[in-house]
Amino acid sequence: TLGEPLLVVEGLCVNYGRIEAIRNVGFQVPERGIATLIGANGAGKTTTLKTISGLRPVRAGRILFEGEDITKVPSHKLVQRGICQSPEGRGVFPGMTVEENLDMGAYSRKDRRTGAIREDRDRVFTLFPRLLERRSQFAGTMSGGEQQMLAIGRALMSRPKLILLDEPSMGLAPKLIQQIFTIIREINAQGTTVLLVEQNAMQALRTADVAYVLETGEVVREGTGAALAEDDSIKAAYLGGD
Ligand code: ATP
Repeated sequence: TLGEPLLVVEGLCVNYGRIEAIRNVGFQVPERGIATLIGANGAGKTTTLKTISGLRPVRAGRILFEGEDITKVPSHKLVQRGICQSPEGRGVFPGMTVEENLDMGAYSRKDRRTGAIREDRDRVFTLFPRLLERRSQFAGTMSGGEQQMLAIGRALMSRPKLILLDEPSMGLAPKLIQQIFTIIREINAQGTTVLLVEQNAMQALRTADVAYVLETGEVVREGTGAALAEDDSIKAAYLGGD
């Protein structure tokens, strides 16, 4: 069963210069749940995640985490508080090995005992056996899918309460997309709350407890993932994403 909202976003407005990227965006992520934001290219999904992570300034609105206002908390402090983003695309350190990348993910966590870090690394290797096989390979020489797994694994190394995933299925072969969604469910089942941004709308809706549809910077629909996945107008709009 889902808990109280862990993250609450209210009336969020973010600009790039005079361009309004998102307008009055509001949504909630239930504790221990999976929430998804879906929408077409340019709808404002990435901007919303970056703003929650403290990488974009807020023009109006507020962001609450565990009931506390984090609207102006800088990015590195948010990681310490338990919010970690796995960036869109690659975003790994290409000149470092898989293992070194994972260790970098543990850098800003509170519990820095070697044993605890090793335990979490093993957990990541269990989720992603491919990373274990490649533990000594330079990240820059891995495939797109492998780098995506590494980016998620690295985010998990900070032991986040809330993980923000920006299009984890992007550019992956269909079989790998299935795998990534299975792994997201597994990460969630192990106790991490998930906010998932996806263009692969139907998969995301089937995975999420709650879902929000963004269109040109605004939330236009919301509901349970299951309800929106069955909705005819959503199906019609996002059929290509199935
Ligand atoms: P995609 O799925 O294509 O990544 P998105 O839903 O994540 O799209 P955003 O990247 O958040 O959308 O973009 C929202 C709007 O803000 C778009 O109109 C985009 O052109 C604009 N935008 C994003 N980044 C910048 C920037 N650095 N400077 C100016 N405008 C930007």
